[in-house]
Amino acid sequence: RSQAVRRYASASPTAAFAGQKGSNGKYTVTLIPGDGIGPEISEAVKDIYSAAGVPIQWEEVSVTPILKGGKTVIPDSAIESVKRNTVALKGPLATPRKVGKGHVSLNLTLRRTFNLFANVRPCISIAGFKTPYDDVNTVLIRENTEGEYSGIEHEVVNGVVQSIKLITWEASERVARYAFYYAQSQGRNRVTAVHKANIMKMSDGMFLSACREVSKDFPGIQYDEDLLDRVCLQIVQNPKPYADRVMVMPNLYGDILSDMCAGLIGGLGLTPSGNIGRDASIFEAVHGSAPDIAGKGLANPTALLLSSLMMLRHMNLDEHAAKIEKAALTTIAEGKAITGDLGGKASTGEYTKAIIQKL
Ligand code: NAD
Repeated sequence: RSQAVRRYASASPTAAFAGQKGSNGKYTVTLIPGDGIGPEISEAVKDIYSAAGVPIQWEEVSVTPILKGGKTVIPDSAIESVKRNTVALKGPLATPRKVGKGHVSLNLTLRRTFNLFANVRPCISIAGFKTPYDDVNTVLIRENTEGEYSGIEHEVVNGVVQSIKLITWEASERVARYAFYYAQSQGRNRVTAVHKANIMKMSDGMFLSACREVSKDFPGIQYDEDLLDRVCLQIVQNPKPYADRVMVMPNLYGDILSDMCAGLIGGLGLTPSGNIGRDASIFEAVHGSAPDIAGKGLANPTALLLSSLMMLRHMNLDEHAAKIEKAALTTIAEGKAITGDLGGKASTGEYTKAIIQKL
């Protein structure tokens, strides 16, 4: 297959990278190390990048909420940094147990602040890591701003709660166009819109109409539609027919289906993601802060590393991405220096070193 079916990619003309190299010949990228294992896996990525000579300098910021005007908010310095650099790599953020007054999810705040309208999740089997299937190769693109997650809920009368699923033409058209551009630029030949328009006739119906309209602008890409429940059933029975395609869907469906697909390739520890916006894009591992293993040198940095490769390709640093990807996947395939979650005995540092030796 052509080199165009790149593995962990995110580039698209609708959200093109507009960063400028500094006088030292490097791009500045915001790094949010995050909580729990975040700092350890961020360190691994930084070490690999410096060994690979990637022309990036990191601007490290904290998003630990601060109190401002009686509300907990993300520090302005973090927001300004992402605005300035237009790309960020983000470690996992722990959700506080006690949710304070005025507190909103940090992940949601970042998504809203930068209008990160598309969540891109490549689910691709990793050679050497045994799973029931070794031929999973699909990309899920989830509408990231509305649907059931628009956050509009209220109690109508005692015992009756209404939660609004909001679908707009604008957001549907925008994510559909991104999905088609993605397919086109990555050599994937089909876009499937995943829906429940048999029940949600108006909302999912409009999502589908937007996808159909956009598909007319991409005559070289096949377009079809499939029901969410049918996709779930079929993909766990046989993922092969879904290879090389892009699936685009409303927010909630994408949240669930992408975790299911992550399960097919070995879990969240191997699954990268990109949150794409028009003005900024944030790349992050799909897993959480893993407090049970934090600080013990046991964390697997692969998902964050693969997310960073999506970021490099977004920044048109394809050669660097390809070099690091090859070194990481070869290290996993050899199986000699892999972390505990993959069945090995290596520490985060040993795994990182093994990748560096292969660069
Ligand atoms: P988790 O993903 O942190 O951990 C689940 C299990 O997977 C744990 O046993 C953990 O040790 C293991 N694991 C996860 N990542 C690993 C890695 N890179 N290497 C090795 N093992 C790994 O899920 P959780 O425990 O439900 O969540 C912990 C915290 O993270 C919560 O506060 C949650 O809200 C937050 N979270 C944040 C994000 C994000 O920032 N995007 C995503 C999910 C969860």
